[in-house]
Amino acid sequence: MLVLFKNAEVYFGNRFETADVLVANKKIAAVGTLSLTGLKSAGADYLEVDCMGNYLCPGFIDSQLLLAGGSGESGFLSQSPRIYIDECVKGGITTVVGTIGVDTITKNMPQLFACVRAFREAGYSAYAYSGGYELPPKTLTKSLSEDILYINEIIGAGEVAIADRRAPEPTPDDLARVVIDSYVAGFLSSKAGVTRIHVGDGKRRLKTIREMMDRHEVQPECLYFTHLERSRELVREGIELARKGCFLDFDIHENDLEIWYRCYLDMGGPLEKLSFSSDAGVSSPTEVWHEIRKCSLHHDFPFAQLIDHMTVVPAKALKLYEKGFIKSGFDADLLVIDKKDLQIRDVMANGKFFMKNYKMLYEDQAYTMRRRMDCYGLRS
Ligand SMILES: [Zn+2]
Repeated sequence: MLVLFKNAEVYFGNRFETADVLVANKKIAAVGTLSLTGLKSAGADYLEVDCMGNYLCPGFIDSQLLLAGGSGESGFLSQSPRIYIDECVKGGITTVVGTIGVDTITKNMPQLFACVRAFREAGYSAYAYSGGYELPPKTLTKSLSEDILYINEIIGAGEVAIADRRAPEPTPDDLARVVIDSYVAGFLSSKAGVTRIHVGDGKRRLKTIREMMDRHEVQPECLYFTHLERSRELVREGIELARKGCFLDFDIHENDLEIWYRCYLDMGGPLEKLSFSSDAGVSSPTEVWHEIRKCSLHHDFPFAQLIDHMTVVPAKALKLYEKGFIKSGFDADLLVIDKKDLQIRDVMANGKFFMKNYKMLYEDQAYTMRRRMDCYGLRS
């Protein structure tokens, strides 16, 4: 079926313009001033969606979620359940990238891979990093290189921990081995080959990275750091690496994105190198959207600029070349957002509506089981 989004304020990367968008076969077929008059008279199967008074944005790319659930750090009872698809829908996330986190024993790669596959079965775009906090990475096949080369869903390594009490600090040489293996397997298989790096609150901050880059010819754009919103010093060191080509990420765990985003802008951080992610596991995937809404409605950050950090930037960092932008030939991952109150009205992922007119059209199978489930995240 064809779907025509009419009269929307369409996101064109850092700005909005009035336009129509036609979706056909999971892809964006055309953008501009469009009419289906000819198709109507020919009796074509189509749906017209009036978007007057709404933004039309690309679906969000969440570059880090603990898809198999969060590691319990207060005993087994504190482990959190897997991420449900409708939680992502409510937060406007249409592409997920899973990782494991600190516990690579009870939360392992087969479990993460199964979660990624579940998202794909539902029609979502889902990927994973291979490994975890410690080195050498615990992989799905016998090596990181084989994971990336042979398994479609695996697009890089991570999240490897540095400056964190929960993992031994990797030597610059051991870390370079992983980064280079991921990079080489990435270009051999036409994937990102990125290494996602968890930066803890240890006093070494990014010293190990600088030492690795001094000793080895690693590609800066293959390094993607997260949790940099821990201190001003860490943000400053991150910006130095971003200026060399690395990608940076702020998670929204503490619900204080406006503080760290202001800090980043005041320090002159490059906008095209910063993404936001949910790091959902204990927190909810919906919280990224709550933070973006808050930053726009209550702290006056430009809305289109905020959208960049969940669309074009992670698409570039992860080399998802058909995502993050509304353009002919790109994946039909789209959000209709009310301009007045920034509520998400419609969510389409790969050409399929998961939410329409504020009504959830997808029911996670967990809710149809004979068990009680109530996942809600932060209520707005
Ligand atoms: Zn982490």
